[in-house]
Amino acid sequence: MNRGKGWLPCGGHWLLVAGGLLLRFSVCAQEYPKLTHVISYEELQKKSIQRKVEWVNPDQTQEELIFTEMAVPIDEAMKKKTRQFVHEVYGLDSIYLNPRLIVFHAMGDGNLKTSLEVSSFLHNQIPESWGTLSKAGNLPNGAHFIIDRDGKIFCLSPPSSYEKENHRWLIKRHQDGNPVAIGIENVTPKENYTNLTAGQIESNAKLARWLISFEQQKIKFISSHHQFNDEAGYDRFLNFFVLKNFRKQYRTRQRLDIGNKNITTLLKKINQRGIVVRSFFDQ
Ligand SMILES: [Zn+2]
Repeated sequence: MNRGKGWLPCGGHWLLVAGGLLLRFSVCAQEYPKLTHVISYEELQKKSIQRKVEWVNPDQTQEELIFTEMAVPIDEAMKKKTRQFVHEVYGLDSIYLNPRLIVFHAMGDGNLKTSLEVSSFLHNQIPESWGTLSKAGNLPNGAHFIIDRDGKIFCLSPPSSYEKENHRWLIKRHQDGNPVAIGIENVTPKENYTNLTAGQIESNAKLARWLISFEQQKIKFISSHHQFNDEAGYDRFLNFFVLKNFRKQYRTRQRLDIGNKNITTLLKKINQRGIVVRSFFDQ
């Protein structure tokens, strides 16, 4: 999810070796501090539940998907902050999504636990020390789903119900969180955003197929977060979905995320089942 800065400066350790000589060796890539004000990773795991969803694709193939619901708690204060964020950034009043596209992301933070702990996903806001990112609204980062290296899917922000006709998704801020995108994160090695395993590719595609069915084919587009970097493309996105961004000066423009090659692969695996979606920025 690339928060826009590198690893913290290295610390140093002194080592006493034979002859009383002091050697200094540095331990680089010091971890970010844990941001777990809302819930710890261990607590989140404890309340996880398994979900199974089934659907029929337009080509009549039947599929089922099992994922783990690991819902990050949302209290009234967080709902209020979400309302404020959506209002200040987009001038809208609903805290719920109108899902029209799926945006794929990559964490670049190492394993699942670290990814969730350092990203502010389990926190109450983006730390002020993150500068510009914190100015775009007083919310933590988040995503609706995150997919681990082995392809296991975790839902961090579940829909209000699993009834097709009667459910809502809360808007989650992931850097440039917006009111029309369901966000899917991927666990990737540190500072590497395009390295998805074969299992992750399959799970991203399958989850997208379910989401498109669950949203009754109203999701017509997919994209990788990095495709929002370009200003002209971003304006086209806003126009197409009849959105305005009143805090454009704080939006991020150096995103990496899963990249063009992975988007092409995913698109193929989704379209194969008779589903008509396009890559928004490649039209
Ligand atoms: Zn992203």
